[in-house]
Amino acid sequence: MFRHCRTFSHYVLKSQMMYFQNQLGFFCPGLHSLMHSYLQYMKRKVKGSPAPPYNHVCQVGDPVLRSRAAAVEPGAIQGPEVQKVIKTLVKVMRKLECVGLSAPQIGVPLQILALAYPKKMLEDNSIASFEARDGCTVIFQEACESICGYSASVPRYVSVEVSGLNEKAEPVSWQASGWPARIVQHEIDHLNGVLYIDRMDSKTFINVKWEEYNE
Ligand SMILES: [Zn+2]
Repeated sequence: MFRHCRTFSHYVLKSQMMYFQNQLGFFCPGLHSLMHSYLQYMKRKVKGSPAPPYNHVCQVGDPVLRSRAAAVEPGAIQGPEVQKVIKTLVKVMRKLECVGLSAPQIGVPLQILALAYPKKMLEDNSIASFEARDGCTVIFQEACESICGYSASVPRYVSVEVSGLNEKAEPVSWQASGWPARIVQHEIDHLNGVLYIDRMDSKTFINVKWEEYNE
């Protein structure tokens, strides 16, 4: 990824889709209780297994997270199937209050991603410059809804340019720096079957609740 070090990298996503909104949140989904698991099990017995797009996030180990997602045909974007994926993606993202989500994470191997963050985050480059390593990439702690409960430091480009199609099949192009740039790189990685653990500094990999185990 960092072979060609540039202060500005370009991500051109042909036929990829982006959904942007101004909203912020952080995730903290708890572990399912035994009772919850049992109820889920019974529900599946009665209703049958759910089919993608899921209303939950797939976890590491699921092959869908390691496959390369297929490009979306521009003509299919406004069709019911793709629109259902987009709506579910946004719904799950809101439910988890996370800042980004990709279609493979809800079980759909298509190049669709959604981002959600406040305007202030767009303007705030302070975090990006805070740990600038070599002018090209920055290292910062990252987490993923598909690797629930863990976190690690990951190098990312400071600035990126993204282009694709929005949910109305209109072409969009966007330059991002700082947090938004980090989020979009994370989500685009998902479309290529790449997880942050593939790029992380492994010595920084932590269980986010490690301190609680000593209490
Ligand atoms: Zn992720």
